[in-house]
Amino acid sequence: MEFKPANNIQDLQYFGEYGGVNPSVSDSSTYTFLSAKTMFDTFEGNTDGCYLYSRHSSPSNLYLGEALAAMEGTEMANVTASGMGAITPTILQICGAGDHIVSSRTIYGGTYAFLKNFTPRMNISTSFVDITKLDVVEQAISPKTKMIYCETVSNPLLEVADILALAKLAKKYKLKLVVDNTFSPLSISPHKLGADVVIHSLTKFINGSSDTMGGVICGTAEFVNAQKSVIDGASMLLGASIDSMRSASILKNMRTLHIRIKQHSKNALFLAEKFEQDGIKTVYPGLLSHPSHDIFKRMMNNEYGFGGMLTIDAGSLDKANQLMELMQEVNIGYLAVSLGFYKTLFSAPGTSTSSEIPYEEQEEMGLSDGLIRFSIGLDNDIQRTYRMIKECMIKVGVLEKVV
Ligand code: PLP
Repeated sequence: MEFKPANNIQDLQYFGEYGGVNPSVSDSSTYTFLSAKTMFDTFEGNTDGCYLYSRHSSPSNLYLGEALAAMEGTEMANVTASGMGAITPTILQICGAGDHIVSSRTIYGGTYAFLKNFTPRMNISTSFVDITKLDVVEQAISPKTKMIYCETVSNPLLEVADILALAKLAKKYKLKLVVDNTFSPLSISPHKLGADVVIHSLTKFINGSSDTMGGVICGTAEFVNAQKSVIDGASMLLGASIDSMRSASILKNMRTLHIRIKQHSKNALFLAEKFEQDGIKTVYPGLLSHPSHDIFKRMMNNEYGFGGMLTIDAGSLDKANQLMELMQEVNIGYLAVSLGFYKTLFSAPGTSTSSEIPYEEQEEMGLSDGLIRFSIGLDNDIQRTYRMIKECMIKVGVLEKVV
């Protein structure tokens, strides 16, 4: 049966404490018990419906986790204080001293820095590979490998991982396939394609209002519960739990996610096609020219489109900076990192979100100086936005004026 993630979110039904249509927010970091025995049992994690301390669990966090597990089609999910707060404990839960990871080389700069600079301290090594080349991925696997790590659509190059094929590889070598799906919520459901663990930075599209951080780890009940173990769970012990107030607000925003993603995708496709026609080097998974267009199509939940992220090459960092400053000045959007906002956001990844990656490695992976990453907004009149961007491009000389 076709997987319908938005229906799964729609079908959740909550009754607040006073009959409210939203679940009541639990505004407490600690909880009382009538009996000391129940308190002990709750600490051990085996008393359903009781809460001890909100780093462990809270009603609001469980509600949000339930909605995200429904969206990704996993048994369970654990919400965290940020995307990195989901990524780092997941890696450390799966890998220990002596273990090896095969990771895509084009991933979010923070994840790259964690694997490249931090985990070697724990004697965890990583091979960074071109994730679109399955033979290269397979060659990098050694008897020490525990995990294949990738982003469905990579930050910032928008490379698309073939999750079905990677899942087969992971199965063959008994590895865990961990996928960061931050760039393509609803459009692609990695667990349904065979990924073991699906991660999101909720800070981005899922929350969608650039007012909070958050993250999530979706997986089997066994994996998620192991992460939450008070004895040796990486999420629990590293402490990146999200606050209940923030969980409650993200849950409310999730209800419009399907509408927002469709609009982000529609606008991004429109602009990508126009930019490409204008002769601008444009990368967008929805374009036929994207090397993994067909792979994305094969994996996608059709109605949500190819997502809201696109990149263009402005030719040089100088031109990219001029263009972004002008686009902000005329109010097309904001010169800001992050993604998934109602207004378009743009930044030059080489000097911002991917600056953790050394310059030579950026060059090697094809991250050029003039690259601008766009998170396309929810603009109602995208034709007007296009005309405004084109004017800016002509003004700064990224595009020649055709007379
Ligand atoms: N994963 C991806 C693909 C990202 O783009 C980011 C942040 O930019 C993260 C993870 C980290 O998320 P957070 O900033 O919420 O920790």
